[in-house]
Amino acid sequence: MAIIEQKGMYGEFPRCGKAHARTTHYCPGCGHGIINKLIAEACAEMGLQDSTIFVDPVGCGVFTYYYWDAAHVSAAHGRASAAATGVCRARPDAVTIAYQGDGDLGAIGFNNAFQAASRGEHFGCIFVNNSLYGMTGGQMAPTTLEGEKTTTTPFGRDPSLTGHPLHVCEVFNQLQAPTYIARVSVADTKRIYACKRAIRRVLEIQQKHQGYALLEILAPCPTNFRMDAMKAAKFCMEEMEREFPLGTFRDLENGVAGVAPTAHPESDVLAVKPVPQFPTCNDLFAVPDGIDAPSPENDPAVPERRFKFAGYGGQGILSLGICVAEAARLEKRHSLWFPSYGPEQRGGSANCSVVVSGTPIGSPAVDHPDVLVCMNQPSYERFAADVKPGGTIIVDESVPTDVPPPAGVTLRKVPAIRLAEEFGVPKAANTMMLAALRKYKVTGLDDASLETALVASFKKKPQLVEKNRELLRKAEAAFDA
Ligand code: SF4
Repeated sequence: MAIIEQKGMYGEFPRCGKAHARTTHYCPGCGHGIINKLIAEACAEMGLQDSTIFVDPVGCGVFTYYYWDAAHVSAAHGRASAAATGVCRARPDAVTIAYQGDGDLGAIGFNNAFQAASRGEHFGCIFVNNSLYGMTGGQMAPTTLEGEKTTTTPFGRDPSLTGHPLHVCEVFNQLQAPTYIARVSVADTKRIYACKRAIRRVLEIQQKHQGYALLEILAPCPTNFRMDAMKAAKFCMEEMEREFPLGTFRDLENGVAGVAPTAHPESDVLAVKPVPQFPTCNDLFAVPDGIDAPSPENDPAVPERRFKFAGYGGQGILSLGICVAEAARLEKRHSLWFPSYGPEQRGGSANCSVVVSGTPIGSPAVDHPDVLVCMNQPSYERFAADVKPGGTIIVDESVPTDVPPPAGVTLRKVPAIRLAEEFGVPKAANTMMLAALRKYKVTGLDDASLETALVASFKKKPQLVEKNRELLRKAEAAFDA
């Protein structure tokens, strides 16, 4: 069966590193995939591909230049509207479109975007609101709903601590200059059609040189909502739309002048919000007056040990780092865990640093680790040369190690990925690596603490605890054989 090429997109996406790739890096059910398709399609249908310059953000939408067959400029985090200002002034003949997420526009880049809108710069801004930071693991964003659980608001966003959700369209609608402001959604078919019309309107305004246009698009992020695609879309329609009503706030060229859309029946967007009362840290952690929170015990005899864990996103590399940091905490050591992501949550590179010490730790950065755990070749190539003399590199056997490690560094190759597959649990390669860390005694931590930390890491999936314990023992036995 012939594959029909998507209008406005490249036929294949080789820039993403795989020849003949035709899939995007977005997670299944992600709103970005739909929005990318709609924008590319509208651009092609309106004959604008050769005259459009996209300004790409930092965030899950960072790789639009892999997909849209048009001109692109990449901006620093939060600076897409600033970069678009430069582009539209340098090329007033072009159609300039900034593509931004709610972390990029609503947080770090808010003032850039707001001032550009206030000046009425001649570009269109497509603002994707999925109510959290998607790329970096689902932290709270300015748009996070009250009560919404994110990795930084695990008990739900509490307005008395972190304020109320930011309504970008409503705030921008106070300005005089913008020509067009609207909010749409891609949560179901009807909404997707409305979204396509709104995208065409943004492009049309740019084509006709009619000024600044802002289009906010509510989009599901199933990965960080921790929902399947259907439930994520429902959350978008029921919860997000209650807070962020859909509608056209203004369309000056079409005679819609600065009106608010009809609010969702249960929306309290316009209600007067109570003045937040800020609790103390002791209130937050339910610490009785006069009693300090538990803290690590200082022991200068325990030397500082630095670890780097690296591999592909999805290999459990960050969880492995958490396990080691948590085991150290159980032994009342000071410990820090510090993640670093590639641009994708799935399939990109990921690494984390862990520092364990008997005394307070000055910095979580690990430039020269004592122990490096590598699950893929790019990690070995990037970090092996930095390992301290006397240190250890534990690397999966599938990783080529043609370049030897630095002098004085021990290299241990272990069949982590192969064993996990042979044991029938391919996702447990990180547990195999934990077994290697225990076997080679490189953490300075007790085997029991490492196992307890492993068990704790499955507290949301208790059904996996016994299996991973068993895998830990089987791997250690296999390493001994
Ligand atoms: S993390 Fe969320 S926003 Fe990012 S690609 Fe996955 S589903 Fe989309």
